[in-house]
Amino acid sequence: STAPVKVAVTGAAGQIGYSLLFRIASGSLFGPDTPVELRLLEITPALKALEGVVMELDDCAFPTLAKVEIGDNAEKVFDGVNHALLVGARPRGPGMERGDLLEANGGIFAPQGKALNSVAADDIRITVTGNPANTNALIAMSNAPDIPQERFSALTRLDHNRAISQLAAKTGAAVTDITHMTIWGNHSATQYPDLFHAEVGGRNAAELVNDEAWLADTYIPTVAKRGAAIIDARGASSAASAASATVDHARDWALGSAAGDWVSMSVRSDGSYGVPEGLISSFPVTTSNGDWQIVQGLEINDFSRARIDASVKELEEEREAVRGLGLL
Ligand code: NDP
Repeated sequence: STAPVKVAVTGAAGQIGYSLLFRIASGSLFGPDTPVELRLLEITPALKALEGVVMELDDCAFPTLAKVEIGDNAEKVFDGVNHALLVGARPRGPGMERGDLLEANGGIFAPQGKALNSVAADDIRITVTGNPANTNALIAMSNAPDIPQERFSALTRLDHNRAISQLAAKTGAAVTDITHMTIWGNHSATQYPDLFHAEVGGRNAAELVNDEAWLADTYIPTVAKRGAAIIDARGASSAASAASATVDHARDWALGSAAGDWVSMSVRSDGSYGVPEGLISSFPVTTSNGDWQIVQGLEINDFSRARIDASVKELEEEREAVRGLGLL
């Protein structure tokens, strides 16, 4: 029998965790033939709630769930893990400035980076979902000098999936007809969903829609502000879709993206498309055998250039802020 894949999830007692753990345990991530061992990290006050979640995991009797371990000590929980899904983060509280938010998250992601550096398996792959995800990933990466930098990523797959869904609705196509979608930049309101390379049934999406005003004034803001719209409607944040996107991201990274298509992932920039080297920014990537590659050679028009630059500028400002705090 196959040895279980060890998957760490932080913030495991939170809303995203409540959806994510059951997807991983049921085989949605690595398939029905690969057993998984869950390693769940929480802050001490949330451990009791987490025990309740583990009771429910037990009660599902998932054939693919080999073992569950929980704890509040990152060095223990991350010991030997192959994948780390860093979901737990400090949300922005009332009156909190951006600097306070980055500092609070530095206090989470710097020690987690160090812990992964010392105890994770050699093949570790790290996905940051907790916001501000790109900069949290940068902090973790900077604190893990022995882990190859390409093993760190941040989630822009939910934005990617939202962009596909909105384009499908506009064009009357099925989501499966939409390919080559790209989210560029930061997982924030400045993110840029790019229709100039996306295709609907093999036709260029921007040409098919042929409406730049809709693109600028409706499509891009609808995708970027979807989280707020869901909070408004549901009275709670979009946890299930965030969990589903985290599964999509980690699965495609581990098992490979679809032939003839690409996905959006925030990864360390090598300077491609004018994104300063070292920033964790969203790109079109293909994945295979657990590695990713930024898709090269796409033409960037003026409309796209301005929007990519604006989002990347925000990432640079976040990097400057955390550097100033001594977190890098
Ligand atoms: P959620 O599970 O709803 O969200 C967790 C993180 O994911 C937040 O930073 C959130 O960002 C982010 N996120 C990314 N995409 C989305 C999306 N589409 N919708 C909503 N969130 C998104 O938060 P909870 O407060 O329910 O749970 C967080 C848990 O993390 C708590 O149980 C807490 O105890 C734990 N925690 C654990 C730590 C650890 O393990 N060391 C450290 C810190 C917290 P945003 O804030 O922008 O919504």
